[in-house]
Amino acid sequence: MKQHIVKPGSKIKLSEWDPNNTGNFKGGKEEGLVEIAKLNAKLSELQEVLYAEHKHKVLVVLQAMDTGGKDGAIRRVFSGINPQGVRIANFKAPTAEELDHDYLWRVHKMTPGKGEITVFNRSHYEDVLVVRVHNIIPLKIVEKRYNQINAFKKHLADNGTTILKFYLHIDKDEQKERLQARLDDPSKHWKFRLGDLQERKLWPEYMQAFEDVLSKTSTEHAPWTIVPANRKWYRDLVICTMLVKTLEDLKMSYPTSDEDLNGVVVE
Ligand code: ATP
Ligand code: MG
Repeated sequence: MKQHIVKPGSKIKLSEWDPNNTGNFKGGKEEGLVEIAKLNAKLSELQEVLYAEHKHKVLVVLQAMDTGGKDGAIRRVFSGINPQGVRIANFKAPTAEELDHDYLWRVHKMTPGKGEITVFNRSHYEDVLVVRVHNIIPLKIVEKRYNQINAFKKHLADNGTTILKFYLHIDKDEQKERLQARLDDPSKHWKFRLGDLQERKLWPEYMQAFEDVLSKTSTEHAPWTIVPANRKWYRDLVICTMLVKTLEDLKMSYPTSDEDLNGVVVE
């Protein structure tokens, strides 16, 4: 999976990253789904120790173009996991109160506590993406924000948060198919907004904004993974694999009791 990680300091050109890539995985969809089921089971066990140990905090950031598959990834990756220990934070267009504060205010409040996994469905990266593409703030301020965001991530990491960041990479044709599918199926109309078509026209501007985010905010404590996401099963496989590996690396264990349980009998 290492091939999908953005090395800090590298310059990303998304046209060179194939959204259909399935890396070193030998099988196809069927084998992929079997592997995901195994990883889901592992993730469930690891999450329980994380919760019990009450020591580590895990933040998962998901960013993508519209229809990129953030919702689907959350559904598949976290299926079967105890909902008590996982929180999903959705970041929509900021409210008036949020706009009265600095852009990290609403984000910091939602970061994970001890024993918790928090998933950011969109995040403060919108404040250097949509905001930049629509010229809501000048480029000069956007440039400053990359450093602010990196400092914020370092602050979280230094204070015990493990951070995983995933950019779900689809191409423009795939988006067309997915938008069309939403249009064709009345049960998916709630997901479709006419504004999505306007956003789609800004595809090249978004790609450029994403390239800058990926190039400038992949750091040692919080690297980006570019997830090839045209194939949904591979997208989920990458996220599950990285998450399991990261949790395993935390070398967690169930806490022992601080009471003497020797010879205790339940009557
Ligand atoms: P889907 O991908 O399934 O359509 P979604 O995450 O796009 O789901 P929506 O309610 O359709 O959910 O869109 C949320 C909107 O909020 C997006 O258009 C996003 O760009 C916008 N948004 C999020 N954060 C900010 C921000 N900081 N400033 C301005 N707009 C933002
Ligand atoms: Mg949307």
